[in-house]
Amino acid sequence: MTATTKAPGSEAAPSAPPWHALQAETVLVRLGCDPASGLSATEVELRQTRDGSNTLPEPPRRSVFSIIARQFKSPLIYILFVAALLAMALSHYGDAVVILLVVLVNALIGAFQEGRAERSMASLRQLSALRVRVLRDGHETSIEARDLVPGDLLLLAAGDAIGADARLIEEAQLQVAEAALTGESVPVRKAVPALPEATGLADRHNMVFSGTYATAGRGRAVVVAIGTRTEVGRIAGLTETATEPKTPLEQRIEQFGRWLVVAALVLFGTVVALGLFRELPLVDVLMVAISQMVSMVPEGLPVAMTIALAVGMQRMAARGAIIRRLSAVETLGSTTVICTDKTGTLTRNEMTVSTLWLPVGLEVAVSGIGYAPEGKFSADDTALAPLLRAAALCNDAQLLPPEKARTEWSVLGDPTEGALKVLAAKAGIDLAQLSRDAPREAELPFDSDTRMMATRHCFADAPRRVFIKGAPEAVLHLCAADGTALVHAARAAAEAMAARALRVLAFAVVEDDPLDPGVGFDPLAGRAHLLGLVGQIDPPREEVKSAVTECRAAGVRPIMVTGDHKLTGLAIARELGIARDGDRAIDGAELERMNETDLRSALDHIAVFARVHPAQKLRIVEALQARGEVVAMTGDGVNDAPALARADVGVAMGITGTEVAKSAAKIIITDDNFATIVGAVEQGRVVYGNLKKVILYLFATSMAEVLVLMLALLGGFPLPLVAVQILWINIVTEGTVTVNLVMDPPDGEEMKRAPVPRDDRLLGRDTLARVALMTPLIAGVTFGWFMWRLEQNVPIELVRTETFTVLAMCAWFNVLNCQSATRSALALGLLKNPWLLGGLSLSMLLQALVLYAPPMNTLFHTVPLAPASLLPLAALASCVLWAEELRKLIVRLGRRRVR
Ligand code: ADP
Ligand code: MG
Repeated sequence: MTATTKAPGSEAAPSAPPWHALQAETVLVRLGCDPASGLSATEVELRQTRDGSNTLPEPPRRSVFSIIARQFKSPLIYILFVAALLAMALSHYGDAVVILLVVLVNALIGAFQEGRAERSMASLRQLSALRVRVLRDGHETSIEARDLVPGDLLLLAAGDAIGADARLIEEAQLQVAEAALTGESVPVRKAVPALPEATGLADRHNMVFSGTYATAGRGRAVVVAIGTRTEVGRIAGLTETATEPKTPLEQRIEQFGRWLVVAALVLFGTVVALGLFRELPLVDVLMVAISQMVSMVPEGLPVAMTIALAVGMQRMAARGAIIRRLSAVETLGSTTVICTDKTGTLTRNEMTVSTLWLPVGLEVAVSGIGYAPEGKFSADDTALAPLLRAAALCNDAQLLPPEKARTEWSVLGDPTEGALKVLAAKAGIDLAQLSRDAPREAELPFDSDTRMMATRHCFADAPRRVFIKGAPEAVLHLCAADGTALVHAARAAAEAMAARALRVLAFAVVEDDPLDPGVGFDPLAGRAHLLGLVGQIDPPREEVKSAVTECRAAGVRPIMVTGDHKLTGLAIARELGIARDGDRAIDGAELERMNETDLRSALDHIAVFARVHPAQKLRIVEALQARGEVVAMTGDGVNDAPALARADVGVAMGITGTEVAKSAAKIIITDDNFATIVGAVEQGRVVYGNLKKVILYLFATSMAEVLVLMLALLGGFPLPLVAVQILWINIVTEGTVTVNLVMDPPDGEEMKRAPVPRDDRLLGRDTLARVALMTPLIAGVTFGWFMWRLEQNVPIELVRTETFTVLAMCAWFNVLNCQSATRSALALGLLKNPWLLGGLSLSMLLQALVLYAPPMNTLFHTVPLAPASLLPLAALASCVLWAEELRKLIVRLGRRRVR
């Protein structure tokens, strides 16, 4: 018992040999791990309190203070500070106070929003936490890597992540990719025996290390070090954790911002020159010039960008798409092709064997659907016995009867194999008895390159046998000894089954073979004898058909990339609308024969790539990209990682995906469903669309303010607004609404448009055309009111207050305009975006404060307006809304006529 309670750290005293120099048995004893059942739950709990969690210290979360401090680090704020100093120097203390106040409000709004975005992103990151498989209390369980403790028994298979440093105690052909740790890109073959103490890290073949991945074979290892005591933990202490680089869109928005800053400087110069030419008081001119500059700088934009991405991420997560790389949010919006797996993504991955074929040329139908072992065979059971036995033995899945928590029969493992167990059970085979009678001695695991799997079993009354199962072409290739007639007949039968959308497996047997896992299938060639074919149905997911239609309407082309047979793939692609008339399917062998030019010219009409090897997925991605497509590609296996990494949006399957695939992907689809990918594309477009709304809004409103002042300066009028009023409109009035514009829900039109071009201009022709309507209108009503009131000889303070109010109201109405390019603001309704409603209400409340609170009157040079006089002002400002409504109506009518 002593061994289980002593800290492993204390055992690795300076004199104790390192783990790799100890025998596996010794390691197990030292760490108190039972190789047959792993740790017990109580022991795990004990160790968790003793050793802590298996995590590396996270980079410190930014404090509230640092988030606020960051808001002050912008050229805009520096300009404003200079302005405040200037105001003070000229004894305009009121203005100085206002400027500082506005700076503070701006910082608070920014910090509040950014803090919110950061928290939500951090919590979403948790969703893609690494998972590992362990043996605890005698059961295999999947846990988060952070919950590993020393002494845990890790179960490793191809594609698994290694969550801690561990000593191997058992392995079969285990290979591990250790590039993350050693830089070596070729996977390392692992072994169990002890090694000399002086062995270097890269050569410790009996150890596996945290942060690496198993790429082939399987193994078991006992955890020896977690958290900071692992090898990566030590390195992580030395290197700084990389923050995520800016996404292309973030970079473009920054660039756009810089461009506006330059424009603002030019404007500043122009206003000063004009003011001096007009011999206006220097102070006023400087203050107005600074305010003008402020209106040109899109201060809300960086924050809006952060929020837009965070909201996009959150909405995608809610619909089952977890974003691992922020840049995927925007790339999804530009996606033009989705290359998708078939099994599990387009289909339900709920297999049922429906048809058998025996070498005598007999086809047998099997009834019953689902995993319940109830069904009938249309022909004699005894002739089927050898095939059914092979199906049950060459199999890693488990069939589980209903019990308390589960009301139905279910399958643990690969559904393709689970269906075979169901098949055997339907024939009355006692599965448990069979595996006791014919224990497995060796195996060649399934892999999507060979498309076969083999197991060797010993029998009490017969020589050992090797059972092979896999794709018919691959298995028949080994069965040459059966004669060409049989091979031909079997191939024809397999194709006929595939054309009926069945997933076909062939079974063969080899008598008395040693089966050397190190060599593979080659020695079996010419010695295998065909047992028969098994055809499985895998119904399509219901929601996929409409998702495919939606996808096409959105200008995104779906392509099936499958390891399954060409005819099976094509049959399902037809059913789902992925393949249409004139589309064709090609398989891996045909792809191999095509050169790049052939492939690129054929791409338009290929709807299905079948029997592709994972390496060919990479080629498909690259060929599509060479034609300018933005490619999303799904994947689940270890070998899919290169294609996932190369694709513009690598999509890993959440359920069937290996940890390797997940770590190479940019997004993870939690339900493995094609429809979820399409949903994510829609959200990507929403994010981009919302950002463009913000840009339109900020640009149109700012330009209007500039125009109003320019008109006054050029026309020889007094200034229509004082500097602090311009500041207020820019930072408070607009600041409270812009950020909320990015919270807009989808307007339902997103998937009726073409994908966002990758080089789409933020201030493109469509946006500028709308600016051309909005800006003169806002400027016109504002300046018009100002002139009219001036002519009536109204006191200037009152005229300015009214002008100020009209401009603020225009800004409110205009935000409604910006919500959609075609749909009426009235139909859209603010209620769909409560955030915007809140922002607008806050903005109005603050405006009322400036109008009616006496201290604010002094600070902002305003006078209280009679409530009744607000009505005409509002009516005037609403022209901005009506004009846009009219334009939208015309656009909608025009569109209807086209249809
Ligand atoms: P996909 O996921 O696109 O359907 P896979 O790579 O899983 O493709 O499978 C490719 C082919 O390999 C299948 O058509 C089938 O013939 C064969 N196969 C699939 N699973 C197994 C398995 N567990 N054992 C043997 N062969 C299999
Ligand atoms: Mg598969």
